[in-house]
This record gives sequence, structure tokens and C-alpha cells, in this order.
Amino acid sequence: MWTFLRIGLLAIAVFLLSATGHAADKHGAKLRVALLTGGHTFEEKSFLEVFDGFKGMKVTHIALEKENGFLESDAAKEYDVFVLYNMSATIPESQRKSFIDSLDRGAGFVVMHHAIANYPDWPAYPEIIGAKYFLSPMDWQGSSRQQSEYTHDIDMPIHVEDPSSPITKGLSDFTIHDEVYRKWMLYPESHLLLSTTHELSDKAIAWTRLHGKAKLCFIQLGHGHEAYANPSFQEITKRAILWSCGRLPDQKPKQ
Ligand SMILES: [Zn+2]
Repeated sequence: MWTFLRIGLLAIAVFLLSATGHAADKHGAKLRVALLTGGHTFEEKSFLEVFDGFKGMKVTHIALEKENGFLESDAAKEYDVFVLYNMSATIPESQRKSFIDSLDRGAGFVVMHHAIANYPDWPAYPEIIGAKYFLSPMDWQGSSRQQSEYTHDIDMPIHVEDPSSPITKGLSDFTIHDEVYRKWMLYPESHLLLSTTHELSDKAIAWTRLHGKAKLCFIQLGHGHEAYANPSFQEITKRAILWSCGRLPDQKPKQ
């Protein structure tokens, strides 16, 4: 009887995991997530609570000191996924290498909100995340660009551009109270997941990019507690983390 009960419980567990995505790998190890902040203020308590709600992940909050923009190699190797919510003015050479090495080994990356403006001194970063935010007017890749703009406290309509992505599957369009950005540059080959038609925002709100073995998801949402509390924001953030390391159900290797 115990055997039947065990098999029954196992079947239920397998069903639940396959229905909701699984943060633990086949050996039962929790997903190791490094959540990087620093260089920009944010509502720390309510932001971190979002990640507390993600089951099966061990999320380590790392507040970067001023001179850091990422982790050194030895520290970076300890993580499966990096969530970037920092806005670092610079990134030392050794940490640029560590960043690239992490992409090369197939670590997941989820880049959020003001992290669009990370590392203005590192030309490779916009290419990696698929966007360039202009902190001042400048010539960039052969054209002259105005300073990018942000506006707080906007009720923005969000449209699911690709309902077939494992990150957005089954989600409806929604409205979120958040900060918008415009006059930034979206790079080609960014696969659009979410968009908005708000007049104070550029269109693209979330997208994915592939770099060799590595998967990266950019989510522009997430300024403050109103956005953090939005169920769609939470679900998309959670799925983006799982997707970035291939742990969503129905996920094809290249998706
Ligand atoms: Zn913000």
C-alpha cells in the first residue's frame, strides 16, 4: 500500500511540475539565481518579496558596490541565472570577461527595467541585451541620437505580441502602473514578446535574444511597488527566469 501511495504522490508531483514549470532540475537541485542591484534606488522590500514568492529557486540578492557592475568569475560560476536590476555606471574589464564567459557557458539572463542603462562605457552591452538607452544626446552607430526619456506613474496597456512563447503562453493583455521609456534604440534580432501603444513609450516592452547557448530575456517593466504587485509582471518575471535556463514545459532547446 505504501508503494502505491508513493507512486500516487510521485505522479501528482510530476503532474504539478509539468503543469507549472519546474525550478528544480532532474536531481532536485534548486535553481541558483543571482539578483544584482546597485547604482539606482528602488523599493527594496517589495521588490525582493516578488522573488520570495518564486518556489524552487534560491535567489541571492547581491547589492553591487560602486566599482562593480557584475560578479568576478569565481563568484559568477555559482549561479545558473543572473537577474540584472542594477544600473551600474561602469563594469571592470575582469567582470566584462566574466559576463561574456557566463553567456558562453549558457547561463540564463533576465535584464529588467533600469538595467537597460547599465555600463554606458561598455559598447558590447547594448548588443547583448538588444537595446541602447541614451543617457545623453550622442552619435551612435552612425546616427545622431537624442537623450532617452522616462516618465513615471503611467497606466500603460500591455499587448502580448507572441502568445506562443513559453514566457507569455496563456497570458492576456493587461494594464500596469509603471514607468515608461522612449527614444531608446531596439536592436534587430530581438524577438518581441510584449508591446505597448502608450504615446509616451516606445513600442517594445519585453523581448528575448539568443547568444550561442545562452538565453536572455529583457523586461522593461518594474519601477515600483505598483508594478511589482501586478500578477502579470510577477508571472512573466518568474517564467523568464525559468525560460532562460530551459526549465519551462514545452520549451524547445532553441526557443
Ligand atoms: Zn524606474
